[in-house]
Amino acid sequence: MIFYVRAFNRCSLIPSQRRYLFSLKKPISSFITRTRLIKDDHMVQLVTSSTVFTVKAIIAMSVLGSLGVDMRPVITGLGITGFTVGFALKDIGANFVSGFLLLFQKPFKMNDVIKSGSYQGKVIGMDVKYVHLQTPEGRILLPILLYCLKIGLSYIFFYEFLPEKQSLNGYSTFADESEPNHPKPIFSRLVFIIIDSLRADFVMGNNSGFNFVKRKIESGDALPFVSLAKPPTVTMPRIKALVSGSNPTFLDLVKNFDAYKMTFDNWLHQFKQANKSIVFYGDDTWIKMFGDGFFKRSEGTTSFFVQDTVEVDKNVTRHLDIELKNKDWDVMILHYLGLDHICHSEGIHSAKMIPKHQEMDKIIERIYGDLQDERTLLVVSGDHGITDQGNHGGSSIEELSTGLIFLSPLFHKLGQNRDGRNNLLGQRKDLKTFLESIESNIKYEIVNQIDIVSTLCILFGLPIPRNNAGKIIPRILSMYDDTDKRKALELNLNQISNLINASLECNSCPSECCELQEEIKNCNNEKKIDKVLDILIKASHFVSESSNEGSTNH
Ligand SMILES: [Zn+2]
Repeated sequence: MIFYVRAFNRCSLIPSQRRYLFSLKKPISSFITRTRLIKDDHMVQLVTSSTVFTVKAIIAMSVLGSLGVDMRPVITGLGITGFTVGFALKDIGANFVSGFLLLFQKPFKMNDVIKSGSYQGKVIGMDVKYVHLQTPEGRILLPILLYCLKIGLSYIFFYEFLPEKQSLNGYSTFADESEPNHPKPIFSRLVFIIIDSLRADFVMGNNSGFNFVKRKIESGDALPFVSLAKPPTVTMPRIKALVSGSNPTFLDLVKNFDAYKMTFDNWLHQFKQANKSIVFYGDDTWIKMFGDGFFKRSEGTTSFFVQDTVEVDKNVTRHLDIELKNKDWDVMILHYLGLDHICHSEGIHSAKMIPKHQEMDKIIERIYGDLQDERTLLVVSGDHGITDQGNHGGSSIEELSTGLIFLSPLFHKLGQNRDGRNNLLGQRKDLKTFLESIESNIKYEIVNQIDIVSTLCILFGLPIPRNNAGKIIPRILSMYDDTDKRKALELNLNQISNLINASLECNSCPSECCELQEEIKNCNNEKKIDKVLDILIKASHFVSESSNEGSTNH
């Protein structure tokens, strides 16, 4: 579909195309019927008319745009800029129509009770423009068509008007290995577990089934964090952020034909460059991203069968028997999908949730027990959160707040979290409300999801990936003595400073950017380590916000 839209961008309407344009209804409706995604006749009609309308609107906008009419005020005026199109990115290969159809994967029928935004009620009628809902407050009309139009226009907006982010090619290396200016590595082996859709409260909350993890937090062997992801809260872009330290923008995802490929520097590459071998089991997104042959051993599971909440995880766990005995890997990555599948099919209050927590908790306990030497680090993280209804893709605080735990007996000496630099609390108004709603006795620190990257690289004595915008997690920094603390901070600061130099336009001094570069330069003379840390926090914030304009909701 987009092919035609793009074609219209470049040429004027000619009769044959016009005929195609105005007979869209039939092919679309037969396409929808054939996909069998939607079985209800009403719904087929609804989706068809909405699609036709949206496509026409997109074409009209594109034509006007290419004739030189500035469409930005129109789009902004409709309040579209803040709209998230994450859902359409679920499968990047899908074109606009199928992305659009994702919305209707769980179509509703007459008499179903549905919820949309703040409205909940029984469906008592549907026509091409509205879904008629009977709510306790009376009868309301949900303007489906407007909603579809909004999605269509926001797609254009992201596609046509937002700047593409520059990312640096190549891989970081240490300048001079003979006299390494980086802190001594603390760990040599890593187990990195992603539990898909692990929202912060699933681990931290008093109702959580992660009993072993909570005991370890209490005894000081585990460090708990609320880790904030950026939208789109969809697995593939989140993995990219978790490995590169850089948040892909919507455009990076939409415009890249081969969006799955991991094309720039990331910590997996840094581990490989240091001759460390990696094994992987779980969500096959990783295998698509890194390609065949990247992992020493691997097996993928698929997120396609959402109803499967058991086998999909067993197929990961069964490899542990062998891999925990194998001594030939340095990094083991596991990505579990079962919890996400439960949320999608039954919502977060499903009876299967706590048993799934316990299953994951047992796996963590087993790995921790088997690898209980001081040189192994175990990290457990969500890739994104999830709404209570079991959706993700957008930018609600429930979708952004993920759980993150670092486990090792070495953390014991840090003692309980006292200062907990929670300077991120002010980042969003709803964060505080959300965290207060979690009933938890755990003292966690709030970090950005991308902070994992420089933290891991520093802990393992590796260069930090070139496009990283994250900072070493302050609490983990406190594992080092003062000399190494300074080295760690400088390593992180230099890398971010190089990124600013290379990718952001800083030439119009004075500007915030120049001031920041000046501050980074003066760090060498700064006596207080806390001051250096403050500058790193500032620099990290500056880079991640300026490179992320396309994907945040303001
Ligand atoms: Zn996910």
